[in-house]
Amino acid sequence: MKVRPYQLSQIKVDGLTLLGYSVAGEESVVIVPELDVVFDIGKCPREALRINHVLLSHGHMDHAAGVAYYFSQRDFQGIANGVVLVSKALVTPLERLMEAVAGVEGHPSPHKFVGMGHGDDYEIRRGLVARAFSTHHLGSSLGFAVIEVRHKLRQEFAGRTGPELVALKARGVEITRRVELPLVAYLGDTAKANYSELPYVREAKVLLVECTFFDADHLSRARAGRHLHVTDLPAVLEGTKNERIVLTHVTRRTHLPEARRLLKQVLPAEVRDRVTFLMSWKHVQED
Ligand SMILES: [Zn+2]
Repeated sequence: MKVRPYQLSQIKVDGLTLLGYSVAGEESVVIVPELDVVFDIGKCPREALRINHVLLSHGHMDHAAGVAYYFSQRDFQGIANGVVLVSKALVTPLERLMEAVAGVEGHPSPHKFVGMGHGDDYEIRRGLVARAFSTHHLGSSLGFAVIEVRHKLRQEFAGRTGPELVALKARGVEITRRVELPLVAYLGDTAKANYSELPYVREAKVLLVECTFFDADHLSRARAGRHLHVTDLPAVLEGTKNERIVLTHVTRRTHLPEARRLLKQVLPAEVRDRVTFLMSWKHVQED
């Protein structure tokens, strides 16, 4: 029996670290420690346990298997306040799952699921929110963007003194405007759609996009499973301004040198230069 070492990939983009493992049908989990979020939980690798916010895109087990373990193991280690943000339709089934696991383990684990819908924000910490948006996969699915929110002084008040600003504020004048800086957007699993219409996806510093299939004869499989095929990428990425686009959820059959060649073929250079695979070939290649 061949033993394959398990290892998370690591990518740095400016001040953000992406730590993840993503192979279709096997496991998908991407941790961003600086933002205290993990996009999908996969089988819950050790590195995900200390992250307080799980942004769960959908219920397929390669994305969600570790949910019960996450809460149980955090309880065991005395780590409180974990929360899973998930599509509203999945909250009840997940509650039932936790109830069943409590019966199996012999004791309940504290847990919290927050039901989200398109456009809903959840405050991760002051000045940082997770926003859910609709995606197009099988069953109930969501994507998430993590957005830094700042309040900047309005241009017209730039020259005012501190006391003047305090006085204006006291009179109820809006002296600041809300500015959103999207940091990471994650599409989860999805069929082809135009996500660049969403500013927090289009402008995110990092965009995590699944690209499950590369073979020409796998197009029908992509359609049936509501996944992306490499030939869908030009349309999906058109108009995006992301500094880095990270491809996830490739199948283990994917031959990465060949996949890179295909990317060169289908994507304009301006887009291609921003694209990276999350996983390296030695962790994806088939036996
Ligand atoms: Zn799926």
